[in-house]
Order: sequence, then structure tokens, then C-alpha cells
Amino acid sequence: MAQHSFPLQSLLHDPLFEGDIVANEPMSRHTTYRIGGPAHFFVRVDTLSSLKRTCAICDESRMPWVVIGRGSNLLVSDEGFPGAVIILGRDFRTMITDDERHRFVAGAGVLLSAVVQKAFQESLAGLEFAVGTPGTMGGAVRMNAGSAKEWIGKLVSTVTTVSPEKGLMKYRGSDIEWGYRSSSLAGEEVVVECELSMEPSDPVFIHAKMEASLKRRKSSQPLDEPSCGSVFKNPVGTSAGALIDGLGLKGTRIGGACISPKHANFIVNVGGATASDVLQLIHLIQSRVKEAYGIELAPEVRFLGLSTAGAE
Ligand SMILES: Cc1cc2nc3c(=O)[nH]c(=O)nc-3n(C[C@H](O)[C@H](O)[C@H](O)COP(=O)(O)OP(=O)(O)OC[C@H]3O[C@@H](n4cnc5c(N)ncnc54)[C@H](O)[C@@H]3O)c2cc1C
Repeated sequence: MAQHSFPLQSLLHDPLFEGDIVANEPMSRHTTYRIGGPAHFFVRVDTLSSLKRTCAICDESRMPWVVIGRGSNLLVSDEGFPGAVIILGRDFRTMITDDERHRFVAGAGVLLSAVVQKAFQESLAGLEFAVGTPGTMGGAVRMNAGSAKEWIGKLVSTVTTVSPEKGLMKYRGSDIEWGYRSSSLAGEEVVVECELSMEPSDPVFIHAKMEASLKRRKSSQPLDEPSCGSVFKNPVGTSAGALIDGLGLKGTRIGGACISPKHANFIVNVGGATASDVLQLIHLIQSRVKEAYGIELAPEVRFLGLSTAGAE
């Protein structure tokens, strides 16, 4: 039997484990920011039992773990993550349509964009707002991804999760509290599957709404530069972007990170940005906005391996 310094690595020799484990994987390869130091272990799990086993071994050996999607809402520390970063592979990347009940059952590893396209093909309305939002179904449910007026939680009829404490759970969408870029699912609950309920509609109408949404996005967001989307949540009654813009901060740069001249609530990586560069800009914005308006901007971006407000 091979000897490993870390219990997690024993999974590589476990015939029941399906997936892969890589040590010291740069997280810059797995975030849309293209920022982030190494994850001690980067694990792809292809089955539910492999996911459960991975989490259990991490807990037994007191190794921190986190499940991520496409890293499209993540700022990962330059020092990386001192534990296991887990992504959902094969069995979590399937989607089934129930034509009669106008429902989709999508694995948490399915890309949100694939679900948006499928809904359009099936003439089902409700997800048009999500066109152009990167990430997976798991990340979208955890974050309650959406726009100012629409969010994914409204369409969720059930969510299946797994956690070391509760095991496999199936929640009705109506039993979950859907907040502004948040859901009431506990931190250690991994979303594994989600069922969406949509309304049949005219495909011409759906297409027009998708096009309008995409056009708005392209005209207002710096989509050609690496980012995490909106950095801050909008305070009640105003937009974070307008507050930041009002202070003339667009274009402010620290290292390789820059407050986008196109959208003040985006901090973009203009080349070689570090998490520290982005964090410094975040703190600069927060203190300037607090000073000028008395408003505390709360980050929408999730932090990994960083000890800051809202960090994982
Ligand atoms: C250009 C751009 C535009 C964007 N536009 C929007 C927008 O319009 N609206 C919007 O809401 N967001 C937007 N975002 C942010 C981001 O795309 C969403 O938050 C997305 O839902 C994150 O999905 P992900 O799979 O990449 O999650 P990740 O970024 O990988 O993770 C986000 C959080 O979810 C957790 N998580 C991920 N998967 C699971 C799982 N299976 N179970 C439990 N927890 C999980 C992670 O641990 C982390 O805390 C944008 C981002 C970019 C880069």
C-alpha cells in the first residue's frame, strides 16, 4: 500500500474514488480573474460518493475544503488555499428536461449558460436575465445569481445538497430564503442538483429578451478583461457603480488591478494583477465611499484564503 503524507492522497488508490487530485494547483487557472495562488489540493469529483468521501477525509484530517464552480465570483489569495478546492465533474454535469411539467433538472456542475440555451430551445421563459452570466448551476444557486429585478431563486423548485453533517437533503425552493446574492443554504452544504420550473412562452419573445439583456451587458460591462463581475452589492436605493463613479475613481489603478473605466463596480485585471492589488482597491473604494456618503459597501465577490470581511 502506498504511503501518503496527506490522507486525501490515499483516494488516488481507492478503486471507488472517481475523479482526480492534483497538488499545488494554481487557482489563477480556475478563476475568471486569473488570480490566485496554489490550492494545496485541487480535486475533481465525478460521483456523489466520491464527493462525500473527499469531504469526509478532509474533515477527519482537519483539512479545510471548499466546493467551487467556475470561480467567476472568487478572489483567491496570492498565497492560495491551504486545503482542498473541489470541483464537480462528470455526474454533476448532466441535465434532464421534463417537457410535461416545464422543468429542468440540472447537475450543479452544469454551466448556467447551457441551461439558458436549453431553456430557449425548449421555449421556456424566465432565465433570460442570466444570459452572459458565467459560472455553474451550483454557484448560481449558492449566490442566487441574478439582475436587479430577477434572480435564479425565483425559478428553483427543488435543490439537492450534501453535507457531512446532514447527508443528502432535498429542499423545496420555497423553503430557502433567497437574499440579494445569497441563499440560506448552510456554508458547508454542497449543491449537487437543482430543479428549475419555467413558463412556456413564445421563442421570439424569449430571444428578444435575451438579446436585450446581452446588449445591455456588452455596452456597460468590460467583458474583454478578466474580472469577477460586480465587486460590491448595490446599497438599498442606489448603485455601487454610481457611488464609485461619483467620486471620480474610474481608472484608478493599483499594480495590475484597475477600477474599470467602463463600469465603476468592476475591478479588472489589466495584466499580472495580484489578489493584494484587488484587495487594496476594494479597501480604497470602501473607505472613500464611507467617507463621502457614510455608506458601507459590502462585497459581492467571495474571498478564498483571505482573512477579510465575507471571507470563506
Ligand atoms: C463578467 C461577469 C459577469 C457577471 N455577471 C453577473 C450577473 O449578472 N449576476 C450575478 O449574480 N453574478 C454575475 N457574475 C458573478 C458570477 O458569475 C456568479 O456569482 C456565478 O453564479 C458564480 O458561479 P460559479 O460557478 O463561478 O461560482 P464560484 O465563483 O466558483 O463560487 C461562488 C460561491 O459559490 C460557492 N459554490 C460554488 N459551487 C457550489 C456548489 N456546488 N455548492 C455550494 N456552493 C458552491 C463557492 O464556494 C463560492 O462561495 C458575473 C461574473 C463575471 C466574471
